[in-house]
Amino acid sequence: MYLCRVICRDIHIEPLQTWLPTNDFPLVIAGPCSAESFEQVLVTAKSLATIPQVKVFRAGLWKPRTRPNSFEGSGAEGLVWLNEVKLQTGLKTCVEVATPKHVELALKQGVDIIWVGARTTVNPFLVQEIAESVKGLDIPVLVKNPVNPDPELWLGALERFQKAGLHKLAAIHRGFSFFKRSPYRNAPMWEIPIEIKRICPSIPVITDPSHMAGNRHLLFPLAQKAMDLEMDGLMIEVHNQPDKALTDRDQQISPLQLEDLLKHLVLRRSSYSSGKEDTLERLRSEIDKLDNELIEILSHRMNIVDEIGHFKKENNITILQLRRWREIIEDRLAHGISSGLDKTFLLNVLQQMHDEGIRRQNAIMNNNQE
Ligand code: PEP
Ligand code: MN
Repeated sequence: MYLCRVICRDIHIEPLQTWLPTNDFPLVIAGPCSAESFEQVLVTAKSLATIPQVKVFRAGLWKPRTRPNSFEGSGAEGLVWLNEVKLQTGLKTCVEVATPKHVELALKQGVDIIWVGARTTVNPFLVQEIAESVKGLDIPVLVKNPVNPDPELWLGALERFQKAGLHKLAAIHRGFSFFKRSPYRNAPMWEIPIEIKRICPSIPVITDPSHMAGNRHLLFPLAQKAMDLEMDGLMIEVHNQPDKALTDRDQQISPLQLEDLLKHLVLRRSSYSSGKEDTLERLRSEIDKLDNELIEILSHRMNIVDEIGHFKKENNITILQLRRWREIIEDRLAHGISSGLDKTFLLNVLQQMHDEGIRRQNAIMNNNQE
């Protein structure tokens, strides 16, 4: 469950189209994981500049790896190459910054946009230092989600930049480290960016399928899903020779492959015109009605849970009776699965209801002192 307690906390953010060209939807930020050489950067950028959706060229310059002693980025030298990209292609440039020194160097060399990486967003000390280093400046900042699935930490980082007087902000969704096995390098957990958009509707969210996938083969379905969920753009790692990339080799694609990926994306409309609204409206009002019925049923169920709680208290019976819980799971799963519901979904719902029941009965046992 990643719903925040806040209902709405809209941060003042300038619409994306006022600071980035978004006419060729979707907006694409593309470029290598790392700037490796002048030639690699320029050749990649020149090919990317021929793809209409690509408006921004990305490259990592400071790349401390998990362990030292491998390629750790080209550092400030790469800023000169990026400047050349701007001059020769007209693309805007974007780099990752992790310290105020990076910010200073990047701004001095005319970088257009900076981004804060996932490993930095986890650390409010660092985010605050970076935010102070750009205080009052007119530089767009993109904030990647923190490595851990914590929407508040992500929002908090964006707020630090907003408090520093910046309004050209966007979030980048690159997936989360997750303890469960998954085909992804970083689990997408789409519910989190959706929650970010629910709380702050004006935040543009750009999807980075490269770091979610960790390999080329999962890029397309992730990019398509981002479009179907109305995300605002894509950040994709592109290298002129992906198989020779010095970092994140498995997930990088060539400019041609990016072109192909974008060509196959199906861009659906966010709402119907031409008289089909009626069908959608009717189905939505059925959902509204059912949701309200579900809430009534849940409330009724919890009242009975409370009654049982009082009974247990009076009769000195423990809250958790594993045999009963086992029976409930087996019975409800069998029923739910035969009604066409997914087993994992059912287990999640049952777990949530059970946890809430235990919480309420525990409060009753202890005279509402949790
Ligand atoms: C990157 O974009 O190359 C990068 C290091 O990303 P992240 O911060 O998402 O791991
Ligand atoms: Mn990378």
